[in-house]
Amino acid sequence: MGRNVAIIGGGFAGMAAAVSLTRQGVPVTLFEAGRQLGGRARSVPLNDLTLDNGQHILLGAYRKTLELIDFLHPQQPPYLRLPLMLEVPDRFRLEAARLPAPWHLLAAILRAEGISWRDRISLVGFFSRLKRQRFKLKQDEPLLDFLQRHEQSRHLRQWLWEPLCLAALNTPPGIASAQLFINVLRDSLLGAAADSDMVLPLRPLGELFPVPAGRWLSQQGGTLHTGCRVNRIRQETSGFSIHSPLGVQAFSHVICATAPQHTATLLPDTPLLDDVRHMLDRFDFQPIYTVYLQYAHGTHLRRPLYALPPGRMAQWLFDRGQLTGEEGLFAAVVSAHGSHVELTHDEIASRADEEIRSALMPALPAPLWYQVIAEKRATFAAVPHLERPAQNTRLQDFYLAGDYTAGDYPATLEGAVRSGLQCAASVMR
Ligand SMILES: Cc1cc2nc3c(=O)[nH]c(=O)nc-3n(C[C@H](O)[C@H](O)[C@H](O)COP(=O)(O)OP(=O)(O)OC[C@H]3O[C@@H](n4cnc5c(N)ncnc54)[C@H](O)[C@@H]3O)c2cc1C
Repeated sequence: MGRNVAIIGGGFAGMAAAVSLTRQGVPVTLFEAGRQLGGRARSVPLNDLTLDNGQHILLGAYRKTLELIDFLHPQQPPYLRLPLMLEVPDRFRLEAARLPAPWHLLAAILRAEGISWRDRISLVGFFSRLKRQRFKLKQDEPLLDFLQRHEQSRHLRQWLWEPLCLAALNTPPGIASAQLFINVLRDSLLGAAADSDMVLPLRPLGELFPVPAGRWLSQQGGTLHTGCRVNRIRQETSGFSIHSPLGVQAFSHVICATAPQHTATLLPDTPLLDDVRHMLDRFDFQPIYTVYLQYAHGTHLRRPLYALPPGRMAQWLFDRGQLTGEEGLFAAVVSAHGSHVELTHDEIASRADEEIRSALMPALPAPLWYQVIAEKRATFAAVPHLERPAQNTRLQDFYLAGDYTAGDYPATLEGAVRSGLQCAASVMR
């Protein structure tokens, strides 16, 4: 059989694998259960608006993802690059300077507002120690323990490290893997100056990558089945059969690019994959709630993104008017598990509205409408010592892609894209 590859799942991982293989001349067939491409990072139509399943932010360090986005948008990048900025108005501000590394970070620390000189010194010491130990821990541990041992004050932990940890790992610092967090710091804050940029989508997520990738794939002769859930993958004497509502189709290679809870139900029935099954059993998940609040036209923040003070339900507030052009639409992001999961969506929206008022805009008029999107299994819990399955499995020509597979990153778009590219590279080998 010539090489023909089935890719199951049209999230960022599956689409990255599909684009990469197609660019190298290998025919692919992609099966996506949902009507829309994008998986957890998909667009969600609401009346005449297009919201996102969750408000996303990328980092300059997400090079593979940005490369693919740029490839599909040759005219103009569909995102805004801003220097790293963590600002809670009048209380805390850390902004990377437009200088080469490491001066961008040093200047940020020197000019930071809302931290003492003692904290500045301990931050510089912390970063140099990480560099000296080449960002490798002898033993992984919860981030909170690590920060305490490295004399990061309670103030720094609350105002700087906790929001960054929730943004990057979607896991509370008390249980989050210090090593995964340090990997992200290594590649972003402590990388080249542009790597620490915050990259904010200027289009709904679907249009950023998965939908144009799908269009490009079809133009190149690839096959795309949306709204088509694969029920079963079977290993055959030669290659694999894929069972879906379209019938049974034969393929030489399979890239299973589904979320971990779905992968567990799809794995071909062979003891060669028992190690993967065991690892998947041990995964735990963390939620993310995105609270969209529509205020009157003309309501806007000074900047497209603010952090909210510690101790609140939401951590970040985005002004979609300045990004995707929906005037007056704010998106508050509530990461990880917390007491809010017990609340109704009405209560969550009203609490987010109160938090915006108290931190940023006391005279804000009441919202015209709101929409809460709760992703209960937004990401895997990025805890220390979590064993993640490799992209290459023991079953020949069967690969796993997805943000949960082995890699340096927590559950992020970049982790997903890298895993997809790695599967494509393995197929080519
Ligand atoms: C609310 C929210 C906010 C987030 N914020 C950020 C952020 O700011 N920055 C960041 O980098 N990351 C963020 N993430 C994480 C990021 O979205 C994920 O890491 C990434 O989208 C995972 O991509 P994936 O391709 O690995 O998996 P998925 O996106 O889950 O894709 C898997 C696909 O497989 C399909 N599928 C499943 N079973 C089958 C089947 N049997 N047959 C066919 N298809 C199937 C699913 O429908 C899905 O489309 C966020 C996630 C959420 C939920």
